[in-house]
Amino acid sequence: MLLAGCAAQPSPAVRPSLSGSAPAAPIIVLDPGHNPADGGATSVRGTREIGYNDRFVAELAPALRAAGWRVRVTRAPGESISLVGRAQLADELRANLFLSVHHDSVQLRCLRQITKEGRPAFETLRPTGGYSLYVSKENPDFTLSYRFATLLGEQFRSLGRSPMLEHAGTTCGENRPLLDARLGIYQYDHLAVLRHSNVPAVLLEVGVITDAQDESYVNDAGNRRRMIAGIVRAVRVWIAQNETSVRR
Ligand SMILES: [Zn+2]
Repeated sequence: MLLAGCAAQPSPAVRPSLSGSAPAAPIIVLDPGHNPADGGATSVRGTREIGYNDRFVAELAPALRAAGWRVRVTRAPGESISLVGRAQLADELRANLFLSVHHDSVQLRCLRQITKEGRPAFETLRPTGGYSLYVSKENPDFTLSYRFATLLGEQFRSLGRSPMLEHAGTTCGENRPLLDARLGIYQYDHLAVLRHSNVPAVLLEVGVITDAQDESYVNDAGNRRRMIAGIVRAVRVWIAQNETSVRR
């Protein structure tokens, strides 16, 4: 589930070395979506999206560190940070890559409200699963952002995941332009965490937590390990392809 926002800034395509010594490892900023006060979508289990985002980032961060990169997270579980603040953190760190992590739902008219263990929950009216990726053409590093989204899409496809295409429709979605339907890459220019950043940035919707089958998929630790391994592979290829602009 996504929140839009406001104004862009110029971009350093090549980030200079901070010292004359050996190049430091690239910095990747991970951004678990939402804050405790809003929580994002409500799942088919009656739990909030933020918990899925926090868990995924908590598992992804060590996997990226183990691959040799430096990782920073925009907020710890329980903490809050503004949308612009998330992008600014990546700029301040002179990060190489920004990845925002969300879990998805559909428009309210395509959901039914149910009750799970006494909690209100939401369920899709018909099966609606899959991952999706967002990039902003207002991000100064759109080309590098899009290349990273492409690599992520290929990794998710190779796991057998399908892209979630409902956002391109007007019934259950928001009429969002699709840049690549096969890979599930949408254009969302006004997305604050993407457009405010001077860093190549992608937003990932891992799966649809209002869909019973997709929620079970993302809730499975083995599936998350496979998705995270795919993300690590995508980052590795992206860094190798962009060696000159990523090296410090
Ligand atoms: Zn969200």
